[in-house]
Amino acid sequence: STASSPGSIRAIDSHSVHRITSGQVVIDLQTAVKELVENSLDARATNIEVRFLNYGLKSIEVIDNGCGIAPKDYDSVALKHHTSKLAAFEDLSTVLTFGFRGEALSSLCALSDGVTLTTATANEAPMGTILEMDRNGRLRNSNSKVARQRGTTVIVSSLFKPLPVRRKELERNAKREFGKALNLLYAYALVPCATENRGVRLAVSNQPEGGRKTIQLKTDGSPSIKASVTALWGSKGLDNVVDLDLSFDVLTEKTVLRRLDQESASVTTVKVRGLISKFAVGVGRTGSDRQFFFVNGRPCNLGKIQKAFNEVYRSFNVGQSPFIIADFILPTHACDVNVSPDKRTIFLHSEQNLIQALKAALEEAFAPSRSTFDVGTQP
Ligand code: ADP
Ligand code: MG
Repeated sequence: STASSPGSIRAIDSHSVHRITSGQVVIDLQTAVKELVENSLDARATNIEVRFLNYGLKSIEVIDNGCGIAPKDYDSVALKHHTSKLAAFEDLSTVLTFGFRGEALSSLCALSDGVTLTTATANEAPMGTILEMDRNGRLRNSNSKVARQRGTTVIVSSLFKPLPVRRKELERNAKREFGKALNLLYAYALVPCATENRGVRLAVSNQPEGGRKTIQLKTDGSPSIKASVTALWGSKGLDNVVDLDLSFDVLTEKTVLRRLDQESASVTTVKVRGLISKFAVGVGRTGSDRQFFFVNGRPCNLGKIQKAFNEVYRSFNVGQSPFIIADFILPTHACDVNVSPDKRTIFLHSEQNLIQALKAALEEAFAPSRSTFDVGTQP
């Protein structure tokens, strides 16, 4: 036939399709680590250890004491679209687990030099099973046993090895990519206490090639957000911060109402919980790298909302870039997590209205500061 002549259209082989779509879930080092830590949190782990070898170039290992994987699931654990977390498509609008698409492990298998899991549920502990997966996420071997308490360890070797260009890119920018991953892990270190008063001990380490292992960040498992801030940044981290505790109503836009099949205007109550720098304390910057946003406990990019916070602050103090931990608590129907494959972008219904209401609430909460602080001249 002429199947290979120029211009003819052929199906991409399934292996390549898998690799292409996988590249949308795991786009870089930070999304790879994020997916693994999310799985540990979804497994209700209270102890999570993340080990990078050579800034993650050699391997990423995540060890947890979560529920473990049951033997009946060994075969399907890393198959595309296999998940233990969603039963029906309708669940998507109310999903509360971090994962729900069954894509992360499958993607990591396609985009690395190998994924190995060691796991035990309460039934098998203290005996764990080693699961070696192939590039298609199929179970290659599960015959080895090791001593293992309840929980799961996932090791991802040589991320992006099957994609030479991306691998080179990662090697070239290893330290920067590692920094980004670490920054995201700070957000995850704050998740459990931000949402549900659940203490999770998180420890992250790196061992450079030929060097010694060093702890990069660590929380002590306290459910208190202030204790976590102290663990992460020292007690100085708490200087000049106050509780953030806002509650305001957001009018739902007509277009959203139509989508929700509702006629009349409705109001959504939004709560914002966390910690924030006091207004006008310290003229310098607190560093905008210490601004963490969550929606119902899910760390995410909320660019417009971040901008709104900073704008309100600047109206008090031109130079101030506040420390922010802000968890937006809203009904699941008022947001959509399923917008981008890496779930970092969250669609908020009536976002413009929400931002206006947020700014008003922030200004009101800090109005007393306007009279007691001389804008921009605090020591
Ligand atoms: P998703 O999180 O969307 O379900 P993943 O590919 O991340 O998809 O994981 C697939 C399945 O593997 C999960 O649904 C879960 O059942 C199991 N799993 C993955 N990691 C862990 C873990 N650390 N502990 C327990 N189960 C896990
Ligand atoms: Mg997952």
